[in-house]
Amino acid sequence: MKPGVFKRKGYLGLAISILLIGIGGFLYLNNLLFQQELSRQLFVNEKQYNSIAELNILQLKAIKDKRGYQIRQTTELLGSYNRYKKESIAVSRRIAFQFQNDSLKQKADSVLLLVKERYDNLDLQIQYLGSLPPELAGKKISENLPVSEKISALWEEKFAQLQTQLQLRSIRIAEKGERLARWNNFSFILLLGVTVSLLAWSFISIKKQDALMQQHDSTMRINTAVRASEKVFSAAFEYASIGMALVSPEGVFMRVNSSLCKLLGYSAKELKALSFQDITHPDDLNTDLDYVKQMLQGAIENYSMEKRYFHKNGQVIWINLSVSMVHDTAGKPKYFISQIENITDWKNTQSALEESEVKYRSLFENSLHGKILHDHSGQLLDVNEAALQLFGYSFDELKSMHFEALLDPADNRIISLLNLRNTADKVQGEITGKRKSGERFPLLYSSIVFTDKTGASLISSTVVDLSRQKETEKLLEQKNEELESFAYTAAHDLKEPLRMISSFMGLLKSKYGGQLDEAANKYVDFAITGSSRMNQLITDLLDYAMVGSDQAPYIEIDPAALLLDIISMNDSYVSAKSATINWASLPVIRGQKTPIQLLFQNLVINGLKYQPVGGIPVIKISGQELEDYWMFSVEDNGIGIPEEYHQKIFQVFSRLHSKDKYAGTGMGLATCKKIVELHGGKIWVVSKEGEGSCFYFTIRKNPIA
Ligand code: ADP
Repeated sequence: MKPGVFKRKGYLGLAISILLIGIGGFLYLNNLLFQQELSRQLFVNEKQYNSIAELNILQLKAIKDKRGYQIRQTTELLGSYNRYKKESIAVSRRIAFQFQNDSLKQKADSVLLLVKERYDNLDLQIQYLGSLPPELAGKKISENLPVSEKISALWEEKFAQLQTQLQLRSIRIAEKGERLARWNNFSFILLLGVTVSLLAWSFISIKKQDALMQQHDSTMRINTAVRASEKVFSAAFEYASIGMALVSPEGVFMRVNSSLCKLLGYSAKELKALSFQDITHPDDLNTDLDYVKQMLQGAIENYSMEKRYFHKNGQVIWINLSVSMVHDTAGKPKYFISQIENITDWKNTQSALEESEVKYRSLFENSLHGKILHDHSGQLLDVNEAALQLFGYSFDELKSMHFEALLDPADNRIISLLNLRNTADKVQGEITGKRKSGERFPLLYSSIVFTDKTGASLISSTVVDLSRQKETEKLLEQKNEELESFAYTAAHDLKEPLRMISSFMGLLKSKYGGQLDEAANKYVDFAITGSSRMNQLITDLLDYAMVGSDQAPYIEIDPAALLLDIISMNDSYVSAKSATINWASLPVIRGQKTPIQLLFQNLVINGLKYQPVGGIPVIKISGQELEDYWMFSVEDNGIGIPEEYHQKIFQVFSRLHSKDKYAGTGMGLATCKKIVELHGGKIWVVSKEGEGSCFYFTIRKNPIA
């Protein structure tokens, strides 16, 4: 009901109350006047009654005086009689006036007439007494007695009648007044009761209306707020980026948003014809139903779980489900609010992560190298079996240790390692390790900073025991030194007899050449050429052997200056070939000077040598800067190299031509390769047969000295 109704009723009640009060007031006044009228009537009646009674008394007194006069005949008595008669006449007049418009006028008139007749009769008797002698007067009076008695009796009767009538009338008026007073009291009380009730009702109605208005206002406010919040909820529901649904206690989709439809591939209408049980993966259904049961029983207020739905196309979708319950005002379950988030990608990533974790854990566990996981403070978090073996601790012992405890504190490199570990992403190097037994050993480490899945920055270190390698290296070094010294000695010792053979053969030819026949001269030439080739071979071998054995310092080298030296040392050869050798500005590099010179020399000489018959060599040398290297190229316009030999030519003693066509030992490019690798670089050739060759090589900018 609208609160205004109460107000209208209240005011209507108030108006009726006022009307009733008015009517009541009017009736009251009216009644008061009527009461007054009754009182007046009663008063008049009383007065009439009293006048009649007074007249009666006056008559009786007059009769008594007449009787006295009859006996004593004194003037006082006659005077008293006349006085009473006079008064009686006055009272009679008054009575006649009082009964002027009265219903009893006739009766009163007859009484008054009788009064007059009676006085007339009395006057006659007095006249007899005054004028006649007492006996005659007595006689006359006696004769008049029946008339007199008749008048008296009639008067008595009429008087009594009138008096009775007046008394009755007085009683009636009094009764009427009493009845009226009772009715008046009753109606007044009734009216008062009704008015008071109406007034009270009106006030209550108005008050109630005010309260209702307030209630109505607050209800309106609440309704507006509810409508607003419903709007917000609807918007939030409809446009939520995650799937949302209102689900009946039985599991039927009552309302779904577009994100959920998109997620599951159904239209809203199709989904509303389904229950969550229809699209839930059978392996997840019981868990979900169990939660639903607990919620319906009130054991839990909400729940979340990861579960699988089936897409309309049958595909499995992983979702994260959060459910809460809405109850009606009676506290009965109304519907579930479900929030559904697609976590398929995350799940796939997680399972890929788990797979990769298993993979990497197996790599970690089975690695032959020690693997140590620790934080930036050095606290060890995990170690593999190889690390336990390496340092001689049990897992439980190592678990509570710091990485530093596994290193020799006397090794100065420990400080830079610890500093680096906290500033660089990756640190590698060699350091002295310390086993549980106290034994020190060379340790190769490689530490990488990474962030684990919780976001913590950790360090993974790989450690390798270099003891055996170091021993082998030392042994190898010794052997190399021995070999080099042997090669050097052998080459030197071999060159000595060769020089003797060559010089004595030369002497033989110059002194006794004329005495020898042609064949002998030829043999001598063979011996000279052979020894010369042998000499060259030994020189080349010596060059090859010496590369890397020399502890010469790494210095800045200007390749252009080297090339000028090379050209000047081979001036006659260059001139004989009419060769052109040119280069643009070449970068200055760091390296061992003698090997680098040998490198450029071998490549330039090859370019001059491997030319077609009559070919005029044009050699171009260029250099350029790469990120970590310098790269050079030596290009010629010679005979070129078939592609299948591009690798082979860098092997020792590998030659593509006979010594008669192109002299050589097959050691030049092998030596170049060794020199380039010594300087941390690579060498390769780009060439086609008959189209010249271009040899490329790189030199590290910061060679490991
Ligand atoms: P050598 O020149 O003493 O024979 P190298 O090791 O310098 O030995 O060269 C190996 C082989 O590579 C040579 O025999 C030759 O066949 C081929 N070769 C080297 N440089 C060139 C070049 N610039 N043009 C064509 N072929 C070449």
